[in-house]
Amino acid sequence: MADEILKTDIKGMLPRELEEYLRALGQPAYRAKQVFSWLQKGCGSFEEMSNLPAALRRTLSENCHLYAPTVARKQISAQDGTIKYLWELYDGQAVETVVMRYRHGNTVCISTQVGCRQGCAFCASTIGGLVRNLRASEILDEVLFSEKDSGLPISNIVLMGIGEPLDNYDEVLRFLELINCPEGRNIGMRHISLSTCGITERLDDLAARDLQLTLSVSLHAPDDATRSRIMPANRGRGVDELFRKCSAYYEKTGRRISFEYAMIDGVNDSAEQAELLARRVKPLSAHVNLIPLNHVDERHFSPSTPENMRRFVEILEKNGVNVTVRRRLGSDVDASCGQLRRKSMEGKI
Ligand code: SAH
Repeated sequence: MADEILKTDIKGMLPRELEEYLRALGQPAYRAKQVFSWLQKGCGSFEEMSNLPAALRRTLSENCHLYAPTVARKQISAQDGTIKYLWELYDGQAVETVVMRYRHGNTVCISTQVGCRQGCAFCASTIGGLVRNLRASEILDEVLFSEKDSGLPISNIVLMGIGEPLDNYDEVLRFLELINCPEGRNIGMRHISLSTCGITERLDDLAARDLQLTLSVSLHAPDDATRSRIMPANRGRGVDELFRKCSAYYEKTGRRISFEYAMIDGVNDSAEQAELLARRVKPLSAHVNLIPLNHVDERHFSPSTPENMRRFVEILEKNGVNVTVRRRLGSDVDASCGQLRRKSMEGKI
């Protein structure tokens, strides 16, 4: 397996890179199209690529890494049909992916890292820290194999599973290019949301790419004292800096930002915090998505009371903020926001 890691990750190659790679092996240009199409179908071995010459199949299997993740566990919500997959990766690690059915189409929520090092105090994904980044090809596999296994055509993607996407920036951007490829799944950027806890140093880089995706920022508190307490990523960065970067992002891309806000009883749900939040998001014409805090065994926070949620919404609305309360999908199979977690196959979950 150590050798596997050193091999070329062929599924992570963009069409132009694949063409170059195969040209160097003396292959005609159309080969790249054939191979790319097999890879995008979720083909798990070169042997299955029946329209390739046998010698090429042999060369590729000697030099390239190709793996199809296997379903270690599949749970289906009795409430709403949400499906949660646990995928076993090539090295025995495992990540979760969720498929949600909405009226406007099926959405897949994908992980970007095995674990997470951001340490948010209310989230299950960070328990146990970061093990490794996912490769672009592994992130792509989450989409390809969820679609293949569930039989549900995927039209929207949210990078809101395990991990911090901007902490695995290069592989995540490569994934976005791959999934957006006209020769491949061809999912438009407007159908993709990327969520971040606010790695401000990366927001300028992302803005410079001017992608038409939706940027979601996990805010969860409008003041530094609260935010730094529950989100270590805020320490040394700060809410002012985050909003400066968000404004620059909005100016550059023209895309409205969506702020995620998990309502935690007695922590971030006061009337003053609602007023401050409104003042901060108003100049950005941003959207606020309130999420009643989801239960995580190891964490000791509670969701806000319905009265406090109502008051919070009212204050935001009174200030002209565009606000929605997120529906909880798949909570009976722990598939809701912040409930996904890394698992290791050795411990057998
Ligand atoms: N690391 C990225 C991507 C994860 S997205 C980010 O932080 O944005 C998962 C979303 O669920 C984030 O908005 C996260 O803050 C939120 N979340 C985490 N734990 C939660 C919980 N217990 N209840 C509700 N939302 C939670």
